[in-house]
Amino acid sequence: MADPVQITFLGGLGDIGRNCAAIECRGELLLLDCGVLFPDEDMPGADFVLPDLEYLRDRADRIVGCICTHGHEDHIGALSHALQWLSFPVYASPFTLGLVRNRLEEQGLIERASLNPIGDHDRIRVGSFDCEFIPVTHSVPSGLISVIRTPQGVILHSSDFKLDLNPIDGRRTDLARIGAIAHDEGVRLLLCDSTNSEIPGSSRSESEVGGVLRGVFAAHPARRLVVAAFSSHIHRVQQVVDAAVASGRKVATLGLSMKRNFALARELGLLQMPDHAFIDVSEAEQYPPPQVCVVATGSQGETRSALAMAATGDSRWIDVGPDDTVVLSSSPIPGNEARVARMINNLVERGADVVHSGQLEVHTTGHGKQDELRTLHTVADPEYFVPVHGEVRHLAAHADLAVKMGMPSDQVVLARDGDQVELSDRGLLNRGKATSGEYYYVNGQLIESGRELFSERSILGGQGVVSVVVVLSRDEGRLLARPRFETKGWVGADIAWQLEQAGADEVAVAVENHLASGDEDGLERLVRRAAGQFVNHNTGRRPMIVPIIFEF
Ligand SMILES: [Zn+2]
Ligand SMILES: [Zn+2]
Repeated sequence: MADPVQITFLGGLGDIGRNCAAIECRGELLLLDCGVLFPDEDMPGADFVLPDLEYLRDRADRIVGCICTHGHEDHIGALSHALQWLSFPVYASPFTLGLVRNRLEEQGLIERASLNPIGDHDRIRVGSFDCEFIPVTHSVPSGLISVIRTPQGVILHSSDFKLDLNPIDGRRTDLARIGAIAHDEGVRLLLCDSTNSEIPGSSRSESEVGGVLRGVFAAHPARRLVVAAFSSHIHRVQQVVDAAVASGRKVATLGLSMKRNFALARELGLLQMPDHAFIDVSEAEQYPPPQVCVVATGSQGETRSALAMAATGDSRWIDVGPDDTVVLSSSPIPGNEARVARMINNLVERGADVVHSGQLEVHTTGHGKQDELRTLHTVADPEYFVPVHGEVRHLAAHADLAVKMGMPSDQVVLARDGDQVELSDRGLLNRGKATSGEYYYVNGQLIESGRELFSERSILGGQGVVSVVVVLSRDEGRLLARPRFETKGWVGADIAWQLEQAGADEVAVAVENHLASGDEDGLERLVRRAAGQFVNHNTGRRPMIVPIIFEF
């Protein structure tokens, strides 16, 4: 009997985000990614959502290392949180590691982890896990497929991927190596990206975006070009830089992460450009518009991002106006559509031309569509398959695709956050919840779980708060002062005062009646109800009611 292997999904199976899996064998635990989920509108005020790190806290001394498959935040963003109370070595490509290092240095955590670079095709031991890394194409450079050899055979993790046959850096996905492993050793278990599993066909090559970008540059020769893209998408940035340099423009970066990632990629030789073409953004306004291209962050319209600030005239560095053509070289991530639309309106209002992916193909996805998934399944030919990296619908569609390709349905195992699957001589079994899979929210310096906080914040955000201060003497059975309404966000200032006075009177009557009845209990509930009824009756709104009672 070979030792069994357990894989616990701490995030990423149910959302696109907070990817993190714990692979355990013989008392050792290997982490595969440690990312964040960006909060949606149901989580007001949360900065990030973390994977279920509680599971790791209980097993801290068994963690032999963390493999980071690529540099996206949904794969590396939670490291700086995990390393606040855990310590383990991190393994990743030099570019991914550069992004991790920046973040850890910023948080003063660089001492907590040794950072170990891995190259394409490297085969290393992490603890007693035998790991090999295969190059894969994605919307960030240096993505790695992980091949983890265990007593239960080969586990192959696709990382986020597309099969780009014409990548910008010429670094193709090494399908031949996967095929060789499948042939020589067999792939026991495939864990594969499900993001685009509902979409037929294949993704367009990243290199096709370059032609479209050059077309935009050619069509706007007299204007300044401001191009927004993800700052880690170095291949996109490279194509913007190429179009700019070819049209005789200087290139400046706008936004801190663009500045950093641009510098990191140049240092590692992943981004090529002549030194003379690079200028600091502080010089950008000194050049005539046709001689400049600004590469910016903020393609998702995030409020404090470089481009969103420029769109409202709040950028320290550039003044966007009628001489600018702004290209949004991305498509809005679901949930960001309204923000992006607002930013486009702001830009147009300032006189800029805007080109976005709804009009021209200035963007392509980083995730393989159905035909690419079928190719990987065919080449890897796994015995078992667990769809990962997706919302429930993506995981289900991916499972369906595998079964339609001929995999026996009992060898396709669906799992969700918190589930533990076990690979043993008997096969692959979903053993159910090994941990809650709960959301852990980063709120400033605090990490909290539970949804109550957000339902409170939703009420406060949408309805406001009415606090009612009541001061009374229990002995004398009377109010010592007139109750006071203190409100925020409930009604407009012009009518607030009048309503506050009327509400206070109503609460006073209710409290006096209550005290006169000799009833000692339930005063807080009574005040809440009296104020709530008044508020609802007079305004039809349901703000949060907070009774504050002083008894003397
Ligand atoms: Zn991802
Ligand atoms: Zn990714």
